[in-house]
Amino acid sequence: MYEQGIIRPPSEASSLLVRVTRNCPWNQCTFCASYKKTKFSRRTVEEVKKDIDSMAREYEGYKVRTAFLQDGDTLVLKTEDVLEVLRYIKEKFPAIERITSYARSPTLKRRSVEELTQLKEAGLTRLHVGMESGSEKVLKMIKKGITEDDIIVGGRHVKEAGIELSEYIMPGIGGKSLSEEHALETARLLNMIQPDFIRVRTFAMHPKSSMQKMVEDGTFVPMTDEEMIREIRLLLTNLNEMHSYFCCSDHGLNLLMYVDGYLDEKKEQMLKDLDDYLSLSKEQKQAFSLLKRGSYGNLSIDVVRNEDTMKQIRPELERIDKTAEGGIDGYLNRLLSRLA
Ligand code: SF4
Repeated sequence: MYEQGIIRPPSEASSLLVRVTRNCPWNQCTFCASYKKTKFSRRTVEEVKKDIDSMAREYEGYKVRTAFLQDGDTLVLKTEDVLEVLRYIKEKFPAIERITSYARSPTLKRRSVEELTQLKEAGLTRLHVGMESGSEKVLKMIKKGITEDDIIVGGRHVKEAGIELSEYIMPGIGGKSLSEEHALETARLLNMIQPDFIRVRTFAMHPKSSMQKMVEDGTFVPMTDEEMIREIRLLLTNLNEMHSYFCCSDHGLNLLMYVDGYLDEKKEQMLKDLDDYLSLSKEQKQAFSLLKRGSYGNLSIDVVRNEDTMKQIRPELERIDKTAEGGIDGYLNRLLSRLA
């Protein structure tokens, strides 16, 4: 038997999950309900090693190639403890090629390049960091507990140590009023740190998050799918053609999951894909959202260019617009929340 945490990045879906801390040491972001009502704690190296022993018995005969260290901010542990865990994973799973973890920017700023280099040499290959936005106003509003300086210095430490940097960003998290600033400031900071991956995770209001109250008192106005795609377009336009992978494909909350690729190879194509969506009629966009928000799967906009499909879906759109609270936009927003 061994412990497992509740979340991991989508790209770690088939990784060995090794829990080294429990929950999140910050746990205050207003949009995040993952660890609410839980307490953060560090696990001892001995506990973690026992878990790794159990996993080694369970996966005996399998070639385990990837592992992810859970939960929210592994590098708050002493570097020597993380080193010991990394070395033990490699000893027990000799075929391991990739070990990754979540880390918060302020923690990465506190870790020296020398410490991070030691971690890289012991097997840590990639760090996933929740940046969400480059705008100080947005970061304050969502109580992210990080600053521009944390993002830049923390990110640069990771890159200098030779560890892959994967930054998560969240279109829509600024709401309508901060959308433009959110896109421009996020692009500016990403251009400065040049992460290996820019992972897009469209904002969806979790019904249990404290942001729901901001909607109720009118201080946060959620964006429609079309507005969020315009925001992504503004962000992408302002990102340099650097060797960073702009990734919408690994999260079902992204409306256009096929907008995906290296900025230095596919930026123009990705902008074209966004423009193709924006060129749809209002009705086609609503139909596309209705179909896409019903599941996490990838969907091409060609489906709503087909008049037979539109003939079938049109009466449903009209019915929803007449009967649902907030019309079709309100309904689509609630569908999105259900996927959060
Ligand atoms: S988003 Fe990350 S840092 Fe913020 S509360 Fe959730 S797990 Fe913690």
